[in-house]
Amino acid sequence: MGTIHLDEQTPADLEQACGHFQKHGAASARLWPSALQPVFERLRSEKRSGLPWWGQIVLASLLVWAVPAIACAPVLDFVLAVEELPPTVQETYNLDELRLLATGSGQRLRHEVFGFYTSVFSYGVAVHQAVAIESGCPILVAEVRLVLGNRVIEIARDLGVHGCQRGMIVSHYAMHARDDGDVFRVYAARAMAVLKAGSPARFFGDTTQSDDQNAVGTAIEREIDKVLALFQQDRTVALTKADNDREIAKLSKACVDAT
Ligand SMILES: [Zn+2]
Repeated sequence: MGTIHLDEQTPADLEQACGHFQKHGAASARLWPSALQPVFERLRSEKRSGLPWWGQIVLASLLVWAVPAIACAPVLDFVLAVEELPPTVQETYNLDELRLLATGSGQRLRHEVFGFYTSVFSYGVAVHQAVAIESGCPILVAEVRLVLGNRVIEIARDLGVHGCQRGMIVSHYAMHARDDGDVFRVYAARAMAVLKAGSPARFFGDTTQSDDQNAVGTAIEREIDKVLALFQQDRTVALTKADNDREIAKLSKACVDAT
């Protein structure tokens, strides 16, 4: 059984070692006051570089799966990371512009437009070759990263002009962001649990792929995609949670002049 310790490597080292990310999926959601406009897209064969992955890892673990050593049996190690980046508050638009944008979205609004919340979910799988220190056998190391990023709470920049309580409004959109984070963590935990469970053999042996690295990468993505099948749907529901009666009543009194 062989183990290497990737956590001692720098992001640049890993980028170089891995060569490329085979694929990563991304799904973004924009939340208007009471609804959201989810977008789902898949990005293939996109090289990722220069991202500050390792500084912000919430959960990372190194697992070792080894087939009992008969010469150099196929071995797969995992480096798993879940990153939930904090939202930033921005003030790009004024109230009129936000209302126009919200109207254009065609969504049903449950409360007055004071801003919106957006985020992007993505995941990446990178498989690279390494050599086990103990046995000298070649092994594969799969890095899997699930990320909730590009998180922005946009708040109208002219709230003061309309006598609006900025703090109350920011905290409302922060609730939407919190609910988004909650559902992300649930699915990230499920994805990680699926990868940890069972035998590594299921990730090898796809002869339609050009090599073991591609076979393993594709098989891992297939497992993750299965787990994520209902993620976007659950996320849509979660992002409306903060628009409850109590919050709507509060927001209705957020501004002296709501015009
Ligand atoms: Zn809301």
